[in-house]
Amino acid sequence: MKKKQNIRSSTPGLAAALAETGRDFHARGWALGTSGNFSVVLRRDPLRLLITASGLDKSSLRPAHFLQIDAEGRVLGGRGKPSAEAFLHVAVACARRPGAILHTHSVWSTLLSQLHADRGGLALSGYEMLKGLEGVKTHEHREWLPILDNSQDIPALASEVKSALHANPAAHGFLVRGHGLYTWGDDLDQARRHIEILEFLLEVAGRIRSEAPRR
Ligand SMILES: [Zn+2]
Repeated sequence: MKKKQNIRSSTPGLAAALAETGRDFHARGWALGTSGNFSVVLRRDPLRLLITASGLDKSSLRPAHFLQIDAEGRVLGGRGKPSAEAFLHVAVACARRPGAILHTHSVWSTLLSQLHADRGGLALSGYEMLKGLEGVKTHEHREWLPILDNSQDIPALASEVKSALHANPAAHGFLVRGHGLYTWGDDLDQARRHIEILEFLLEVAGRIRSEAPRR
C-alpha cells in the first residue's frame, strides 16, 4: 500500500493532520468530549512524540493543541501539559516502534472491554474487514485484542501495556477495560485505518451479541 505520509513529514503538517484526525473521530463518536489522545513519532532515538495536550475538547482540536514530549513525558515544545496517558503512548512507541499511535473511547470498545475482561482479551475472526489490518490477508485471521484492567496508576498500566504487547506480538491493538482502544501504525494513515477497522469490528462483535437469534 502506498504511504502518503511518513515520520519525516514536517511537524506543523503532522500537527494539522492529527488535529483533523481528532475532529473526525469526535464526529464519529469515538472521542467525545475531552476523551482520547493522538500522537505521532517525530524522532525515534531519543524518542520525541507529538501528542495531544490534556483536557481539550476533541471537536475543536487545532494544530496548536499538540505538544512535543520526550520518553519521560517532559514537554519540549508547545503549550499545556500532556495527558497522563502519554506514558501509554510512550510504552507503545517503545514496544512496537510505530509512526503513530491513536486512542479512542468509543461506546463499543468501552462495552466489549467490560464484557470480555474476564477472558483477558477479545477475539475477532471471520470478517472480511480484518484484511484492513496491516499484514492480514484473509478473513480467517484471528485478531486477539488483549484487555488490560483500567488504572489511574499510569506507570503500572504502562508496564502492563509493555507486557501485553510482548506476549501478543501479532496484536494490532489492545483494549483498556471500561475505557477504550489503542492502536498504532507505521504512519498516521495506517493508524487511522486501524482505528476505523477495529472500531467497525468491535461494533459488529457487539451488535451480533444482541441481534443473533437466541437458541
Ligand atoms: Zn483514555
